[in-house]
Parts: sequence; C-alpha cells; structure tokens
Amino acid sequence: MSRDGWHEQVDSHDLLYERLKTYEGRPTAAPGTGKDLVNEPMIRHWCEAMGDTNPAYGGPDAIAPPTMLQAWTMGGLSGNTDRAGAYDELSTLLDGAGYTSIVATDCEQEYLRPLRPGDAITFDSVIESVSPRKTTKLGTGHFVTTRMDVRAGGELAGTHRFRVLKYAPAGRPPAPRPEPSVTPKRPRPVINRDNAGFWEGVAEHRLLIQRCTDCEVLRFPWLPGCNACGSLAWDTVEASGEGTVYSYVVMHHPPFPAFDPPYAVGLIELAEGVRIVSNVVGVPYDKVRIGMPVRLEFLKADEELDLPVFRAGGED
Ligand code: ZN
Repeated sequence: MSRDGWHEQVDSHDLLYERLKTYEGRPTAAPGTGKDLVNEPMIRHWCEAMGDTNPAYGGPDAIAPPTMLQAWTMGGLSGNTDRAGAYDELSTLLDGAGYTSIVATDCEQEYLRPLRPGDAITFDSVIESVSPRKTTKLGTGHFVTTRMDVRAGGELAGTHRFRVLKYAPAGRPPAPRPEPSVTPKRPRPVINRDNAGFWEGVAEHRLLIQRCTDCEVLRFPWLPGCNACGSLAWDTVEASGEGTVYSYVVMHHPPFPAFDPPYAVGLIELAEGVRIVSNVVGVPYDKVRIGMPVRLEFLKADEELDLPVFRAGGED
C-alpha cells in the first residue's frame, strides 16, 4: 500500500474512534420498568433452577438472590418495547466500519442493597466506554462496555456491567497443529486455601466432596462455608465414582492450547447428588447424552497433573 493510502487508513480509524467516543455516557436505550415486582415465585424458580438452597431466599424475611439483579429487568418473550437508543446507533456505526461480529466478553455486578418481594424495579443503562481499536485472536475491533443501574423504589440497588467486542473476523486459517514435542500442557488448576484439600485428594486418586458437619449437606465445588446453614465447619466424603451426565456442551470454539476441539464438557451428577464439571471420555463427543451413566477415573494429563474425568460406555 502506498504511503498516502496508509495514512488515509489511519485517519479513518482515528475518525471512527472519535465518533465512537461521543457515545460514551449516552443512554443505550430509554429507561425501563421491571415487568413484575420482585416476587417469591420468580425467586423460587430461580433457586430451583440454580440448585440454591440458601435459606435467606425463602420465608417471611426472604431476599432475592443478588445474582438475580438482571432478571428483574428482562423483557421476557415479548421483550421491552419502545426502548430504542444510542446502542443501536453505535452498533450500526460499527457494522458499517466492518466490525460486524460480536462476542460477549464479561459481566460484572455490584450489589448495594438486597431486593425483597414487593420492590418495584426501574433501570437505565448507559454506554460507559468504548475502547480504542484492539486486536485479539478473534479479530480487530472495539470493546463496548454498558452499565445498567437497577433501582428499587428509586434507590440504587445494584449495577450490572456488560462488555462485548464488536470486531472484524480475522479470517485467518486455523493455526497448524503443533508437533507433539511442543504440545502445550493443560492449564494448571488454581489451587488456594479453600480448595487445596480437593486437589490433594485428586493427587491420591480420591474425589473428595465437602460435607457440612453441622447440617451434613454436601457441597461441590469446594467453598469455605455451607450454603445451607452458613457453618464454616466441614469434613469430606469420598465420592463412590458413580455418576450420570446431567448436562453437557460441545466445545468448538475458541481453541485453547492442549485441547483438541470439538470435545464434550460434561456436568456430571455424582451418585452423592453434587455435580462436577469434567471431561467425558470413552465416547465420541457427539455420542454424549444427558442421563448417560459414567464412572470416575483419573487421567494423567502430564507428569505433574492428574485430573478426574468420567468414562462413559457399557450401557448404550
Ligand atoms: Zn450446613
């Protein structure tokens, strides 16, 4: 490309970014009102779906699970109407510049006061920031962060930040598979004082489940306290190794070093009742089924790492 052409391209990027920056602070859409008051049936359904038995979410002094924050703002199947705003404009602008793909990258929530049945919810959201042009493995584009403030009776109850990358797909052919001699290792587990006992068990080929010694409720993954009664006292029970596939996903993208997509990631329900995310082995990824019986075994991923995995088969 000629020197002048190159300058022209840089200028157009700068101009675009200047325009994108003017959207910062603008409402993404008109303010909204929750379709329902905070209410016990929605809280109950949520807790059942999540398997959350925390007693704080039931009874006469119930609060809503803080993580339901966004649920109270959702439009449901019929959607939230008449809420067109600057976000649509910004998206159109980015589409026009070739950043036609989108991926959600992360979400942060902050809780300022509990929501209780009867609270009337209002919310508004702004485009908080648009990043300079960034190049990622997916492609080049701009990160757009929106912030939604959720209020109960007019009082700020929490904030919900949501970030996406609007990008032009890189369109490169997949990187050639590395030679076996340089195959990267699986990621190391993050071991901390709360879960060290679990990984010590794995090193001895024992899958240990935490048990609250006050109310005897089992929990997994490992946590410092009991979700059922709040107790910090616990011991462990060793899983029998029997389980079933409770749910699963098949990973195609993004590629991670040491993983060879597509592969199945299973949510395994152990015979003891708790669930663990793990690999399902022994069957092709497209033969994994909900309800399939599986049995624990330990995979020697490399010299330093053993991992619990679940083998299917025998009862097709
Ligand atoms: Zn307990």
